[in-house]
Amino acid sequence: MSTQHDYDLAVIGSGPGGYVCAIRAAQRGAKVVVIERDRVGGVCLNVGCIPTKTLIRSAEVYSLARQAGDFGVTVGEVGFDYAKVAARKEKVLETLRGGVRSLFKANGIEYVAGTARLAGQHRVSVAGGEGEAELSAAKIVLATGTRPAELPVAPFDGERIVSSSEVVGWTALPESIVVVGGGYIGCELALLLAQFDVKVTVVELMDRLLPVGDADCSKEVLKSLKRRKVGVHLGVKLEEVKAGKSGVKARLSGGKTLEADVCLVSVGRRANTEDLGLEAAGLQADERGIVAVDECLRTRSAHIYAIGDITGKIQLAHVASAQGMVAAEHLTGRATARMDYRVVPSVVFTSPEVASVGMTEAEAKEACGGKLKVGRFAFRGLGKGLASGETEGWVKVIADGATNELLGLHIVGAHASEMLAEGAMALELEATLEELAETIHAHPTLPEALMEAAEAALGRAIHMPPAPKKGVS
Ligand SMILES: Cc1cc2nc3c(=O)[nH]c(=O)nc-3n(C[C@H](O)[C@H](O)[C@H](O)COP(=O)(O)OP(=O)(O)OC[C@H]3O[C@@H](n4cnc5c(N)ncnc54)[C@H](O)[C@@H]3O)c2cc1C
Repeated sequence: MSTQHDYDLAVIGSGPGGYVCAIRAAQRGAKVVVIERDRVGGVCLNVGCIPTKTLIRSAEVYSLARQAGDFGVTVGEVGFDYAKVAARKEKVLETLRGGVRSLFKANGIEYVAGTARLAGQHRVSVAGGEGEAELSAAKIVLATGTRPAELPVAPFDGERIVSSSEVVGWTALPESIVVVGGGYIGCELALLLAQFDVKVTVVELMDRLLPVGDADCSKEVLKSLKRRKVGVHLGVKLEEVKAGKSGVKARLSGGKTLEADVCLVSVGRRANTEDLGLEAAGLQADERGIVAVDECLRTRSAHIYAIGDITGKIQLAHVASAQGMVAAEHLTGRATARMDYRVVPSVVFTSPEVASVGMTEAEAKEACGGKLKVGRFAFRGLGKGLASGETEGWVKVIADGATNELLGLHIVGAHASEMLAEGAMALELEATLEELAETIHAHPTLPEALMEAAEAALGRAIHMPPAPKKGVS
């Protein structure tokens, strides 16, 4: 691409945004270098998506083993060894880190360990174990991600007041924990720990858990936390946390004080952009550290792109990767490459899982002036739900009341994360209720609930009694 620079592309950060971008650019012929200051794979692979889901799987196996008797299976005494749970997770992470490293190698991507900083429009300085070096690149992608946001009333000390990064690294569990923040990370970790018999209390400022999701989904997560004896305080502010030798005392608005071994603060993420030398390239971040980009992921300097969590769009790994691919294609010459955030699936890996794509019911109501068709179907109405003992939860489909086009799909239940892909595809293809309902689904499977929910929205679900006619009691 360029002869006057060391590289065609320098990618700063190797999370799901950066590493995917680097590979796609290399596939398209670019000479690429990736600079990473920590472990390859970013937050997602090391302290985010993958470690949490690996730990959650162990918690599921533990729960299932305790329910073995319900299936007629006899097991001995059921217990767990958390050091082994943590060791299994580490093995998974190392395998995946090795996978990314070998993909870099296979695609001829150079990997440099060190902390990168913009030193000019095309120059990047790298400080590492062997001192500081400088390299030049025709194009640069900033993919530096985020770190846990700190609360002034509860500064992290890594032991008593911790972030999610410490929790996923534990090799032994505390007996009790206060989780501050009922967003998806707080809820996932609260349920994970409760499943491993930790006494958990969640404190959330808003009046519901998962405040940005569909309200019906929030109610299900609240039920599931309460069923596992997790204390939940909604609409409550954390005033102060005092950490001592034997534990923490968290004072809440209203005067209540909670005591626990540890306090997890999980109240959002802060972008890693303040030490990136943005000013050297004529760029700046906003007060949250977010770098503004256009739909092709270009910053104000057209040859410098930003992707992933630092763009402040939707802070999820698959969004970072999608942005990485668009940026890579655009900067290697596909001028039409654009980001489209219309259909972005999201999953909360609680138990049961919560999976959503498209609009919430409240958003759809506003978009359609209240004219909606909403269909629900519960997993307890499915043969597969009963056969596998997974009857908790439901599917809700939301469609435009005039055109029947699908607007949103929400699933609460076992394997909701896997079932969501069908909903995402349906929304991407602008499918209607009829198209979802008339797609033949294999039997017996849990995704039959998607078809049934679409039928229900059309007033004709087979495996559900008809809604009472108006005027008939
Ligand atoms: C507990 C937890 C669970 C999560 N679970 C999910 C999930 O289930 N699904 C999902 O989609 N998302 C999940 N996420 C969010 C997901 O991890 C992020 O959206 C994703 O990692 C963002 O990718 P990124 O490429 O923008 O940055 P990151 O993954 O944050 O990677 C950025 C990389 O840049 C490096 N870096 C930073 N500054 C420099 C510098 N100056 N020089 C060199 N390197 C630098 C960092 O060390 C890091 O490796 C979770 C997050 C957390 C914290």
